Amino acid sequence: MSVIPHLINGELVTENGRAVDVFNPSTGQAIHKLPLASQATIQKAIDAAKAAFPAWRNTPPAKRAQVMFRFKQLLEQNEARISQLISEEHGKTLEDAAGELKRGIENVEFACAAPEILKGEYSRNVGPNIDAWSDFQPLGIVAGITPFNFPAMVPLWMYPLAIVCGNCFILKPSERDPSSTLLIAQLLLEAGLPKGVMSVVHGDKTAVDALIEAPEVKALSFVGSTPIAEYIYAEGTKRGKRVQALGGAKNHAVLMPDADLDNAVSALMGAAYGSCGERCMAISVAVCVGDQVADALVAKLVPQIKALKIGAGTSCGLDMGPLVTGQARDKVSGYVDDGVAAGATLVVDGRGFSVAGHEEGFFLGGCLFDNVTPEMRIYKEEIFGPVLCIVRVNSLEEAMQLINDHEYGNGTCIFTRDGEAARLFCDEIEVGMVGVNVPLPVPVAYHSFGGWKRSLFGDLHAYGPDGVRFYTRRKAITQRWPQRASHEASQFAFPSL
Ligand code: NAD
Repeated sequence: MSVIPHLINGELVTENGRAVDVFNPSTGQAIHKLPLASQATIQKAIDAAKAAFPAWRNTPPAKRAQVMFRFKQLLEQNEARISQLISEEHGKTLEDAAGELKRGIENVEFACAAPEILKGEYSRNVGPNIDAWSDFQPLGIVAGITPFNFPAMVPLWMYPLAIVCGNCFILKPSERDPSSTLLIAQLLLEAGLPKGVMSVVHGDKTAVDALIEAPEVKALSFVGSTPIAEYIYAEGTKRGKRVQALGGAKNHAVLMPDADLDNAVSALMGAAYGSCGERCMAISVAVCVGDQVADALVAKLVPQIKALKIGAGTSCGLDMGPLVTGQARDKVSGYVDDGVAAGATLVVDGRGFSVAGHEEGFFLGGCLFDNVTPEMRIYKEEIFGPVLCIVRVNSLEEAMQLINDHEYGNGTCIFTRDGEAARLFCDEIEVGMVGVNVPLPVPVAYHSFGGWKRSLFGDLHAYGPDGVRFYTRRKAITQRWPQRASHEASQFAFPSL
């Protein structure tokens, strides 16, 4: 079994100490050993970043952007290799892995605009012979902690932008599928990034706590589950750090009676079962307005769920691979047991599913529940698996109240042909990302990504314009060059025009 190294100061480093297994979820076999960084290893990455920061901060933004142009090229050239690694350790299909990488590359493209996004704001003649400008300066060393479900895309939400803004970055990827994340970071160094500007350290709570506690780390970007997001936000801000912590989700799709049902069903199938439901924007609740819509939806969904093509993610032409770990598969199965016990109608049961030749893989078939009610655990909690719950309501207002009352507010969508209903939904829904006939409304890289309520802790969303604000701090400079031979008298009143 090979050992996956850390990447510190441009070097691949292995160390003796605690380690965990990384699995191939399609076979259920451990394929790599992953070292878990100690506090001392984290300090090495911090020291490397500290040494690299002064020169990188003073590197012209256009030069920093040139590194990102080369990085984008390398990512595109290595798409097949990266997708293979994602699929091998996460389990998602190759096509899905390539899709996440493409969405990640969009963030690199945005970062290529560094000279434009960092040019600041300038005002001439704010007073007699006085000019003023706002400069956007880097924070110093920033760290990112990322989840297993997008090992390429989510880290790419963070460090291309942080780095072109002049920061040094330490990434702590998920310990479940770190190989693609590491390869991508190596490509960034190959693109010409000075060593030390970016390090990758593997680890668990020990590594994360070391990053939280280090005074040199000025900001933390986190994406993962809500309890850990809340912890990192509380501990980071307590120490005066800037923190954006994106958490879990329960995303509802509302189906109105006038919706184009066939297209809505196609959209729902991908949004609920794609990536085995392991997406923070996955639709996990279909809210049907009226029994007629619900009955028609169930009739159309059932044959399609039963026909899902499920197998090893690395095979081509599949709809769904396995869940990431045996523990995740058992947790999702447990939720299905719980839903049955609570009285929901299990219309399609994916428990006990296995794939011929991959009997040890962490597979589960698609599951569908009808007649789910808000007090059930399967409605309240994030399941993060291929389970869609149908809730029946009588009106759009009732549907919106249900969504607004939920603790999470990441994404949502409405299927309708009614512009008035869609507009009301967009205006009043308490959710950060909203789709109208778009099931996974993940914002493009030049907007920003973030949920509301307990789906995000912090003020600024990830990437795009909010990302630039997060990774820079504003300095306002006011400058006067008195005209030669002029004399200014002291002024004791507060300066004004
Ligand atoms: P997770 O919270 O278990 O892990 C995320 C990161 O936190 C990992 O790097 C992990 O090593 C670290 N971590 C885990 N336990 C920790 C602890 N006790 N202390 C400090 N660090 C710890 O999440 P996951 O299972 O990898 O990912 C799935 C979750 O991420 C889901 O809840 C999903 O909704 C969420 N997610 C959210 C978004 C979003 O944008 N809102 C995007 C992707 C995933």
